[in-house]
Amino acid sequence: MAKRVMRKMRRKGLASMAVQTVANTADATGSTTPAPDLGPAAALSCRECGERFPLGPIFACVSCFGPLEVAYELPAGGPEELRRRIEAGPKNIWRYAPLLPVPADVAGKPSLNPGFTQLVQADNLARELGVTGGLYIKDDSGNPTHSFKDRVVAIAVEAARAFGFTTLSCSSTGNLAGAVGAAAARAGFRSCVFIPHDLEQGKVVMAAVYGGELVGIEGTYDDVNRFCSELIGDPLGEGWGFVNVNLRPYYGEGSKTLAYEICEQLGWRLPDQIVIPIASGSQLTKIDKGLQELIKLGLVEDRPYKIFGAQAEGCSPVSAAYKAGHDVVRPVKPDTIAKSLAIGNPADGPYVLDIARRTGGAVEDVTDGQIVDAIKLLARTEGIFAETAGGVTVGVTRKLIENGVLDPALTTVVLNTGDGLKTLDAVAPTSGPTATIRPSLEAFRAAGLATD
Ligand SMILES: *Cc1c(COP(=O)(O)O)cnc(C)c1O
Ligand SMILES: [Zn+2]
Repeated sequence: MAKRVMRKMRRKGLASMAVQTVANTADATGSTTPAPDLGPAAALSCRECGERFPLGPIFACVSCFGPLEVAYELPAGGPEELRRRIEAGPKNIWRYAPLLPVPADVAGKPSLNPGFTQLVQADNLARELGVTGGLYIKDDSGNPTHSFKDRVVAIAVEAARAFGFTTLSCSSTGNLAGAVGAAAARAGFRSCVFIPHDLEQGKVVMAAVYGGELVGIEGTYDDVNRFCSELIGDPLGEGWGFVNVNLRPYYGEGSKTLAYEICEQLGWRLPDQIVIPIASGSQLTKIDKGLQELIKLGLVEDRPYKIFGAQAEGCSPVSAAYKAGHDVVRPVKPDTIAKSLAIGNPADGPYVLDIARRTGGAVEDVTDGQIVDAIKLLARTEGIFAETAGGVTVGVTRKLIENGVLDPALTTVVLNTGDGLKTLDAVAPTSGPTATIRPSLEAFRAAGLATD
């Protein structure tokens, strides 16, 4: 896979930048700067070749250009002790601090304190879909800025603090911009975030209201991301922590908390099947990493689990590669209402394919019409109003059951990663008053809505 990554990095022109960033960090650590305190995080290691690097704001391996991941000194003591420590922690992601790249006293620092969102036992939806093995919605719309992005940003903020950055930034499909703006406001950073110019109003307003700088870029998310990569390599971007670019290894670790919470909420048990949306593929990849860690630490029983990836048909490069049996992902130009997932050139696409195949899962996609139907199905059955990304996972779950790919007799967790209030346009044309009447009993009777 190294060659594949290298080709990609060369094409993106990131190779020289990665080298340059490492050189900068080496200078910094060569001087008197103390090693950053990121708790159990010991180093960065290359996902492709395993080479290790000191903790710093770098994201690509100098030898093979593979993505870097956080490597840990995992906590001593047995699973019982660790479980007790976690359960005694705060009701947010910081209860898992011993497994995250954050300082031990993180819970006392200014943060939005995301996480520990509800795992909803979705019996009504299960009946509708024919699931008999237990169906759960992990509802991340309950986070402070109403998407799962608060988790990843909270971790990136700690890294930004440790590395001395003063400005927080990101390239965003919408939710990330709001999460960065809010976290920066709480933690006392300047923020300047970049989004495609044509996002939903709910996302744009959320990104702007926290008072940071918001820049609309005339182009797709992939153009925004390319622009941010250039900015990092330029003096214009000096002192900037881009949560999903130069802080990406730390950012990604935030998604592990979804795996931890799901297992803890199931009574320290692995689910049999998980359905996860794919934008860049980082979330899916790191949920798998989190599950593997829980097994390694003995916090859950080592049994097989299957990971399913979900995309919108209008931006389905990973699903297309999965179905074609390819292990490379061919970039596409997105055209879907699921804008939070509209990444045409997903950085972690190849890893998603590996994980879906290794675990016996699959990657599937649904049309915009099916996304809208699924949003309404989830709302009608469980009282959860999902954004389009939640329509994608619920729609894909339904399709996978119909196609006999997902086993309805097994325990299944479906992620809802965002809030329907941010993507009102998706359902507005088909959701409105049943009737509009004069304020009189006569008019109400005429409308035919009384129970009989
Ligand atoms: C960002 C995002 C995701 C997943 O993103 P990855 O890049 O795959 O980690 C999923 N759902 C929503 C609502 C998002 O905003
Ligand atoms: Zn490498």
